[in-house]
Amino acid sequence: MRFRFLIFCLLVTLTMTLPCALGAQTPSAASSGRQVQSPAGSPERPAYSLPPDKLARAIKYSRIRVILDFVGTGWGILQLILLLTLRVVAKMRNFAVRVSRNRWGQCFVFTFALLLVTTVLNLPLDLYGQEMARVYGQSVQGWGSWSWDVGKGFLLTFVFGGLLVMLLFWVIRRSPNRWWLWFWIPAMILVLIAVFVAPVLIDPLFNKFEPLARTDPALVDRLEQVGARGGIKIPPDRMFLMKASEKVTTLNAYVTGYGASKRVVVWDNSISKATPDEISFIFGHEMGHYVLNHIPETLVFSGFLLLGEFYVGYRGVRWLIAQYGQRWNIPSQNDWGALVVLLLVLSVLSFLSEPIVNSYSRMHEHDADVYGQEVIHGIVQDPQRVAQQSFQLLGEMSLTDPNPNPFFEFWTFSHPSVSSRAAFAAKYNPWVEGGHPKYFVK
Ligand SMILES: [Zn+2]
Repeated sequence: MRFRFLIFCLLVTLTMTLPCALGAQTPSAASSGRQVQSPAGSPERPAYSLPPDKLARAIKYSRIRVILDFVGTGWGILQLILLLTLRVVAKMRNFAVRVSRNRWGQCFVFTFALLLVTTVLNLPLDLYGQEMARVYGQSVQGWGSWSWDVGKGFLLTFVFGGLLVMLLFWVIRRSPNRWWLWFWIPAMILVLIAVFVAPVLIDPLFNKFEPLARTDPALVDRLEQVGARGGIKIPPDRMFLMKASEKVTTLNAYVTGYGASKRVVVWDNSISKATPDEISFIFGHEMGHYVLNHIPETLVFSGFLLLGEFYVGYRGVRWLIAQYGQRWNIPSQNDWGALVVLLLVLSVLSFLSEPIVNSYSRMHEHDADVYGQEVIHGIVQDPQRVAQQSFQLLGEMSLTDPNPNPFFEFWTFSHPSVSSRAAFAAKYNPWVEGGHPKYFVK
């Protein structure tokens, strides 16, 4: 779903980076046509590889996803420009002002109209993306259920987006020159609240959860063992099984929320397809994000980035309105239509900052891989093999191209490529003579 919306920019950009999926959801992988598999005749097999039929499908599917990713971003920006230039935004504003004299009414009417139009404009790409996920066996979700998810996303964005827009314009009117700073503070607080409540209030709207102990008490014991080696205690009633198999075929396990909402979530697909050892590694990786403070660090990092983006957004909105305000019929930053101008600037900035955000994320992901392998030492027999096999399984399940295009990897990958992670796992052994584990004494 591509809701080019303030709440999207704010909440999704930040929260998506937090509960990491082990890489099963690495956004895209492209094929360069470059084959870096072992040279002909070499007996050495790469740590991650696919049989020929799967490889061909993985290359095609990866290419589709990369194209969808870039076309989707480009279309998201272009549609905002078109809506402004064709004065559709001005018409929406006029309509909102005509319908209600009350600012709350105007805000929600304008938000609804904008959300409706952008959702419809994005629908063809969203439909195509879902259709491809079904064709390539990544999704098993029926169209009815998919549409219901889109509807729920729409309603949530409308309610929370509307409130944020109301707050934004209240701040803009109070502080015309410093709103980028004053709006940033409550925005960050809202992000913290969103990360806290999402696992409890939002996630159950889209997926079913049940206590892991009910179906797999042995796995609960195992995960507690891994947790204990890493020095964190997650009680069994905070471990949940998510019925992902109703919608997707990929596997995952993650730690999400914080404080009282902190929990472990294991997808049911993982239990049916991965061994307890592999789930331990996946879980260990996720635990690494927690133990190594990746969540607060990411919040601080994203916070500063967002502050910079808001400042550029403020300057950009002023400049654009001075240049094109007359043509767009948007006279000032106080006008509801200025929201679209701000979204335009933020969309461009968000695209340009992707490599920065993703490089930062890949660094954390690598550290979590190291942690995951170290934390299962002594619990599983061969951490190197288990980790490498986990990546093989993850890559195979999500049809990941073993040879992604380096440029797309740099720009769009939130995780290092599956090939490089598998290769690292296969050779990482700090328990040999003279080796030093990075995060554990032994
Ligand atoms: Zn991760």
